[in-house]
Amino acid sequence: MIDVATVDGPAGAGKSVVTRALADRLGLEYLNTGAMYRAIALKALREGVDLHDESALAELTRRTRLESNDGRTFMDGEDVTDAVRANEVSLNVRYPANAPSVRENLVEQQRRIGMSKPIITEGRDQGTVVFPDARCKFYLTATPEERARRRLGELEARGETADFQEILRQIIDRDRSDSERDVGPLREPEDAVRILSDGMSIQEVVDAMERIVRSRLTIFNARSPEESRRHS
Ligand code: C5P
Repeated sequence: MIDVATVDGPAGAGKSVVTRALADRLGLEYLNTGAMYRAIALKALREGVDLHDESALAELTRRTRLESNDGRTFMDGEDVTDAVRANEVSLNVRYPANAPSVRENLVEQQRRIGMSKPIITEGRDQGTVVFPDARCKFYLTATPEERARRRLGELEARGETADFQEILRQIIDRDRSDSERDVGPLREPEDAVRILSDGMSIQEVVDAMERIVRSRLTIFNARSPEESRRHS
C-alpha cells in the first residue's frame, strides 16, 4: 500500500476543482494527469507533429520533461497549466491519450511522482492502472444530465450561448471514447469510494472526501514515537 489518494471519474464530474481543493486543505501535492496528456498534445500541435503518428508522439514524449508543482503543470520548464486548457488541445488530446507507448511513458512518470511524496492524483486510470495499491481511492461521478447542466451554466456565465442537448450529446460521446479505449480506459476501481455528486455542492463533496482521506493515509494517522511507545 502506498500513501496515495486517487480520484477517477468521467469528464465534467468536477474532479479537478474538488481534487485541488482537497489537496490544499490537506497539504498534499495535487497531480492532474489529464494535464500531462494535454501537454503532450500541446507540444505536438506547436511542433506540427502528426497526431496520428504514434511513434512520432512517443518520441516527442520521451524528449519532454513534465513536472507538477503546487498543482501547476510544467512542460520543459514552462508553466502550461492554462495553455493546456485551450479548445484546440481539448479537441486533440485523444491522440496521445489513446497511444499505448505515450501512456506507458506517462504512467511511469506518474508512479515516480507518487513514490516520491504523498499525493492526491486525478485522472481516469489512477486507481486501476497507475496506483492499484493506493490506500484511498475515489470514483467521482455525476449523471450526464447533471454534468451537462453544470457545463451549460459555466458557458452562460462566460456570456456564451449553448444548446443543452448538444452539450449532453458531447458528454455522452466523451464518456464512450474514454471507456472504450484499449489502454487505460475509464473504469471504476472495485475498491473505490463512489461519490455521485448530483445535487451536492463542491464544499459537501470536499468535506466528505476529506474525512475519508484523513482516516486512510498514514501521514495523517502516524503516531508520534512517544504514542507508539505508549501503545506497545
Ligand atoms: O481530465 P481532462 O479532461 O483534462 O483529461 C484530458 C484527456 O486526457 C481526456 O481525454 C482523458 O481521457 C485523458 N486522460 C487519460 N488518462 C488520465 C487522465 C486523462 O487518458 N489519467
